[in-house]
Amino acid sequence: MSDVAVDTSEAVELAPRVWWVGSMLPHDRFQCHVYLVEQGDQSVLIDPGSALITDEVIRKVDSIVGLANVRWLVCSHADPDIIGALPALVAKGLHPEAAIVTYWRDAALIVHSGTQLPFWLIEDHDWRLALEDRTLQFIFTPYLHFAGAFCTFDETSGTLFSSDLFGGFTDDHSLFASSMAYFEAIRAFHEHYMPSREILAHAMQELRNLPMKQIAPQHGQVVPLNLIAPIMEKLERLECGIYLLARNDPGLAFLLDANRTIHDVVDTLVREQQFSAVAEHLAELSAQLLDTEYLELWAGAGSILLHFDQSDGYAGYLDDPPDDVQRILAGVVVEPGRRLLLPIISLASDRVNGVVVLGFSEPALLDQPTLAVVSQIIGLVEVGLEREVLTRSTDLERAAWHAQAIHDPLTGLFNRVSLTDAFSQLLAYDDRKGSPQMAALMIDIDHFKMVNDTFGHPVGDQVLQNVATSITASIRPTDLAFRYGGEEFLVLLDDVVTATAVMAAERIRERVARSLEYLPRVTASVGVALRRHGEGHADLTQRADEALYAAKDGGRDRVSVAE
Ligand code: GH3
Ligand code: MG
Ligand code: MG
Repeated sequence: MSDVAVDTSEAVELAPRVWWVGSMLPHDRFQCHVYLVEQGDQSVLIDPGSALITDEVIRKVDSIVGLANVRWLVCSHADPDIIGALPALVAKGLHPEAAIVTYWRDAALIVHSGTQLPFWLIEDHDWRLALEDRTLQFIFTPYLHFAGAFCTFDETSGTLFSSDLFGGFTDDHSLFASSMAYFEAIRAFHEHYMPSREILAHAMQELRNLPMKQIAPQHGQVVPLNLIAPIMEKLERLECGIYLLARNDPGLAFLLDANRTIHDVVDTLVREQQFSAVAEHLAELSAQLLDTEYLELWAGAGSILLHFDQSDGYAGYLDDPPDDVQRILAGVVVEPGRRLLLPIISLASDRVNGVVVLGFSEPALLDQPTLAVVSQIIGLVEVGLEREVLTRSTDLERAAWHAQAIHDPLTGLFNRVSLTDAFSQLLAYDDRKGSPQMAALMIDIDHFKMVNDTFGHPVGDQVLQNVATSITASIRPTDLAFRYGGEEFLVLLDDVVTATAVMAAERIRERVARSLEYLPRVTASVGVALRRHGEGHADLTQRADEALYAAKDGGRDRVSVAE
């Protein structure tokens, strides 16, 4: 039923044997609805609310079962409207054994209305009331607006009698909500009557799995099936109670946000296996809460220092720390600027083993309470971070040693240790192509002995470094450069023909020959060999070497191509 223009001058049947028996008061924004579950002489009146409409309620009940057949009065809470309606109902003659169905906390107050009616406490009856053709189920939704508040669910008709929950302040007198516009009426009411978002969300959680077809609240409008889910979703996040006050109090708003953040972080830590997910979440939260532009984390174990930042989705990579991070790690206080650095203290060792960096667009000005909250959050992250660093440190240490073992310390190029492996991988890759497309360049600095003799060994070292730089600057990232001997280099080029290999060789030769002001000028000779079909690395290298000798013989500072 979702007919907006329903006639409310008589009782309205919401579902078979489920009736609305209230009365629309003109000019009332807060209509008190009463519902009747028709059950012969065991009939139930739900929230028989408001002395202002009792005569009308009785007239409507009489038109269906007769007031004397109302055996049960469900009182979902002890508000004045409900209590106020009791004396008149009693006076007009309820069932002789009529009882108030409620929870003890409500009963403790209702008794002070002076009513003589006995109580039938739901908690003493397994939260159920068995009737002729159905069982009513009671759902405890405490502190929703009243300590003893509960809802009543009739599974047979799928009707939730929700009491104040889902109620609203309405200006029109339609019994049924017809669109999400009704949510504004709900909002206005719930914002002020419900004590907190958490309590409201808890109630939504309790109700979520009920097979509801309609919601019949004590005030406002009946919610049809299609509006139940969207309204519940919005109610779950409604700012109410203390959150409402927070709107005008930035300090309170911050504390509430911080509280939520702490819950969120703990939640993520428990749920997520991946630390990256935790860190990413933290970055989002700090952007929301503190208006940070970025968040990065540094954490270490032994010689390993991991850098977690956005660049790789907080997966964490080995990195050298900048000055400010280094100082915090050394226990030195760093004045906050646009980067606010906070030490992470290991719970196990009580030492600084990491740093959180909060990046701001303007110099950070966080007050003491804010910093306290931030430190608390960092304390939580510390556990996850330590776990992450530990699980990864063995792998990382091995990777670091490996990187050290295969690189030449002076030039940073690969050394000969890694040559055999890399070479066979490249050859295997090349073999998969129709014809070989690989070339080897052997490069040797001309008269290098003279550089050492004239300028000394340290200058010779610098020249070597410069030649290495000239080589890497002249090749593609997929090509490989090795320090092959003292002042000899081997470059393996991928995807080339003779012309492109020679061009690469020429680029290298020209770059080396271009003099730097602070270094003695040197030249290099280059031997180029294009791989032959099925050729192994020894043969290919030897032909490149022969071509190099030809270049030397030809007068040096030149490129020579093997036959
Ligand atoms: P050529 O043009 O025929 O290649 O003459 P060359 O002088 O370059 O050839 P040679 O092989 O006779 O000399 C190579 C020199 O390179 C000898 C060695 O002292 C020097 N050398 C090798 N490794 C290093 C190094 O790591 N640092 C320095 N400074 N010199 C090195
Ligand atoms: Mg040489
Ligand atoms: Mg040499």
